[in-house]
Amino acid sequence: MSNMQEAHSFIIAIDGPAGSGKTTTAKALAYALGYIYVDTGAMYRAVALYAQRRGVTARDTGAVCALLPEIDVRLERKDGTQRTLLCGEDVETHIRTQEMSKAASDISALSCVREAMVDLQRKAAAGSDGAVLEGRDIGTVVFPDSPCKIYLVADAETRAQRRKLQLEEQGIAADFGTILREIEERDRNDSAREHSPLRKADDAIEVETTNTTIEEQVSMILSLVMKRIDQYRKGTAA
Ligand code: C5P
Repeated sequence: MSNMQEAHSFIIAIDGPAGSGKTTTAKALAYALGYIYVDTGAMYRAVALYAQRRGVTARDTGAVCALLPEIDVRLERKDGTQRTLLCGEDVETHIRTQEMSKAASDISALSCVREAMVDLQRKAAAGSDGAVLEGRDIGTVVFPDSPCKIYLVADAETRAQRRKLQLEEQGIAADFGTILREIEERDRNDSAREHSPLRKADDAIEVETTNTTIEEQVSMILSLVMKRIDQYRKGTAA
């Protein structure tokens, strides 16, 4: 057991590509178990927004790294929803655009950004009874000793369709073909990058969600996780 687990937090790592259902699953698990929920993608999005506002692009690695000490990102719960605070400003709606999805994917490839965010993510989970973290590298890099890793997958068309519906629910008109291209590009970026690429941890349980409803997905994963927690508590986790 490494130092990361010594704070006695039970860490649940949920990784997978965009649109695989990580957010709904992670939130539902955190709610059911009374654990804290950490959306690590929101942190990369907030950094991307900050850089954009300062006129800095991800291509200028030195300038992005130099901005990091100024960037204060916090995740807070307010009225039952999670809000992302950037230097005290609630930027939750600003970071959810398609433009910020792409910008977050570009900026998250930089190692200085990853180091700063991974540190923040470990601190966010420390001291809690348990935490559910969702992202791309939770099981491989942020908490490689997590006793409970889930890797969600679904085909790109299904993920694009889900994303389209989500955007429409927020009143944002969305073109299926554009979203599909954006998702495929983000898959390529996130999987091919040098630092912490998206990949399944060897000990993660892969869950294919293409043909399941979100309710089925959540209830199946919740029972998987409960079994893992039980085994872990009895000291028999594999
Ligand atoms: O999960 P979400 O779509 O909000 O993440 C936005 C982007 O942030 C991802 O496409 C990925 O490039 C990056 N990310 C990451 N590592 C994480 C979480 C997100 O690189 N742990």
